[in-house]
Amino acid sequence: MTGKYNANGNTACPHRHCFCPMSNFSNPKPICRLVTIQDVENARAVNNLAALSMHNIDNAFSNGVPLADRTHGVWGSTPGEMLHLSGNGLVKYQFESVHDLIGPKQSKQKEKDQLDALHQRIINDATRQSDKDFPRMTVRNGITDGTKMAATERIGNLVILLCVAHTTDGMNLLKPGWTEHHITGKRFRDCIKLQLGFEKWVNESNPRSEVTNSTDLLGTLIKEIQHCFPRQRGNGWNLPKMHSLAYMPHYMLKFGMAQNFSGQIGERALKSIVKDHAQQTQRRPDVFAEQCAAREFEELVLEWAFEDIKPQLGLDFVRVDNTNPNHYSGSGEYEANFLACDNRGRGGVCVDWKDRSKGKLNICISPSLILAIRSFAVENNWMGNIQVTGWTRFKTSLPGLDEQVNFHASEYLYGGPWYDYAMVQFEEPNIERSQTVSPAKVLGFFRYDTVGVPTPSLVEDGHSRDEIYDQSMRDVNVYAVVHTASTYVPWSKIEKDFVVEFKLGPVDTCIYIVKVASIINPLFVFEDYGGSTGEKRFCVLPNSRWGRYFGSRINP
Ligand SMILES: [Zn+2]
Repeated sequence: MTGKYNANGNTACPHRHCFCPMSNFSNPKPICRLVTIQDVENARAVNNLAALSMHNIDNAFSNGVPLADRTHGVWGSTPGEMLHLSGNGLVKYQFESVHDLIGPKQSKQKEKDQLDALHQRIINDATRQSDKDFPRMTVRNGITDGTKMAATERIGNLVILLCVAHTTDGMNLLKPGWTEHHITGKRFRDCIKLQLGFEKWVNESNPRSEVTNSTDLLGTLIKEIQHCFPRQRGNGWNLPKMHSLAYMPHYMLKFGMAQNFSGQIGERALKSIVKDHAQQTQRRPDVFAEQCAAREFEELVLEWAFEDIKPQLGLDFVRVDNTNPNHYSGSGEYEANFLACDNRGRGGVCVDWKDRSKGKLNICISPSLILAIRSFAVENNWMGNIQVTGWTRFKTSLPGLDEQVNFHASEYLYGGPWYDYAMVQFEEPNIERSQTVSPAKVLGFFRYDTVGVPTPSLVEDGHSRDEIYDQSMRDVNVYAVVHTASTYVPWSKIEKDFVVEFKLGPVDTCIYIVKVASIINPLFVFEDYGGSTGEKRFCVLPNSRWGRYFGSRINP
């Protein structure tokens, strides 16, 4: 067993796995001479571990504990892992760099505060979106102080930085620094996209050939990080973590996807074995470990005993999410009664909330939703009364997502309107389905209660208004009312661009009543803060598709 010298500018071999000098650590495609067991043995024999910048450590591992790698031993069995390398390392330095790009040290504090405020606004938007398919993030200290973020949150914050760099306000704040360092906005954004793709890709199951061929693209990413996030502090980008990053494909070929050797599992264990018990100890240093162990033991005994008596208590069941697409649940229920109207759709609407307190607060439903239901009826020559049951929150299963997704569509929730965005599937003859999708603001969910009125499904099935009325036809479908983009935004475009600009279409032509099954993915959408028109939006590639953003760019 050996220990490494602290890595500073004068250490000969600062990285534990190779002989490279510090100056090689920013190399985007390094080829290292890796440390072998023989190298260490030879150095130890002549008492010259210092040549490898190593200390000798005599412990249980020193006397030939067998390890799987018989050539590189422990030095080849301890890969860099993404949590510390990226989340707790490189991304942290990137945020420092953004701080310095705006102004070094304490300068330009006003601009830094503005950037933090913008970042916070977009995070607020993101946490308000349908809660799935997007990473975690934080707002505790703003991005320019990256010190207090957890590793996984840093990745979430990197996504938000990407969004910030798309908005007019964000670009104005970043531009002076970009110009000074010859960075274009496009390159800055492309760099983050590639990095986010890589972060996801390393944890996915990829063909060996793809991993082998990934070094060129990873090299590009490493070069771009250094260009777009200039680092003057310390040794610049000559960091052991950068060197480990370049070696990720090597480690992945050896150990499989990066999740297999992620530090997150160990960190989790620390949490459950130590942190969770800390409250139940006296928190005195001399007995802390012992008391944590005792609490862990007690918990295991309780767990074991519980497993044993579960059947007697009738608790030996497994909860399974119903992933049938027809399975849904709505809450925030109301009945909306559309009174008879004239032939231009003018007539009253009464809303009756199941939760009486909402009635007292006089909360209404989206005027666009009312307009959509009324217009559809009038277009199909129905001027009579219609009653619908609607929901302001709707939970449903979506294809390809393991968990059910919540959509909010409410005029008033936590102090204001809250409408989630989603990807909506449309159908058009002779056009491939992947082309006819559109981002849309979800305005509400409802079902027709009145029988014998024209509904989208009945009309689509070819029934006439009179037929529907005479036979008192019933429609059991649940519908969503959506406000779509002015044009389709195909998946292929989002997969290619990661962030895609669109405009919400005009209210009179781009509000549709669609079946709930047409909603195919939650979507994170943000506004162009500081932009001149209020209709400009950006949608972001769902998290589940990020890995392919990187993978599909690898040259075979
Ligand atoms: Zn090396």
